[in-house]
Amino acid sequence: MNQRIAAACARVHRSVDDVTLIAVTKYVDVETTAQVLKHGILHVGESRTQQAVPKWRALSAKSGTQAEAYYDVPEAHWHFIGSLQTNKVKEVVGRFTTIHSLDRIALAQALHDQAMKSGVTVQAFIQVNVSGEPSKHGIAPDELPKFMEQLEAFSSVKPIGLMTMAPFDRSPEASRPIFRALRELRECWLDKLPYLSMGMSNDYEIAIEEGATHIRVGSQLMGGDSA
Ligand SMILES: *Cc1c(COP(=O)(O)O)cnc(C)c1O
Repeated sequence: MNQRIAAACARVHRSVDDVTLIAVTKYVDVETTAQVLKHGILHVGESRTQQAVPKWRALSAKSGTQAEAYYDVPEAHWHFIGSLQTNKVKEVVGRFTTIHSLDRIALAQALHDQAMKSGVTVQAFIQVNVSGEPSKHGIAPDELPKFMEQLEAFSSVKPIGLMTMAPFDRSPEASRPIFRALRELRECWLDKLPYLSMGMSNDYEIAIEEGATHIRVGSQLMGGDSA
């Protein structure tokens, strides 16, 4: 995996330091997630609170002695990558530093309120539905300026970049126009939105070539491809 990331970076003259690998651990248990951290991958992504919160409790030193007693693992950065209901926000804020699925103002409001209570700031990727598929979450690309303006009201939610999901296609190349469009959309916002969360097991190399700073890789990594 590291070699393939490095090769993709080299093809477009990027530094590997500019790409963060998020290990999506939603398919695996606490034990396996602990192994991922011990392996030195310190960014983990989860998409469902029911699974994610018990894992966080078991693996985060911040959760107290309970965890430290069982797992001696380095402290991870926890990314919430799935769609997030407002009633689940209180489970996420204070545990996950970064949300990849900010797609509506009501969610920004809920995140802000909870973050204020907890005395933290939530970093957020704005999810954009570049492909326009009705089944996908995310704002439409042309809604971004208005969305950014509305977000200014929520000081505890800090937008840091854009996120998208490409339609599933066996050919990774099919994702390229989607990733490129996300990068181009961000062009006018470089100072405020420096990061791009895009690329999964199937197409992360293409995403890196198109400027991804955060790739979210699950099945391929958990399938044992650690080369
Ligand atoms: C599951 C998931 C991933 C990882 O998908 P893989 O194809 O297993 O790499 C990435 N991003 C999101 C939002 C996901 O839900």
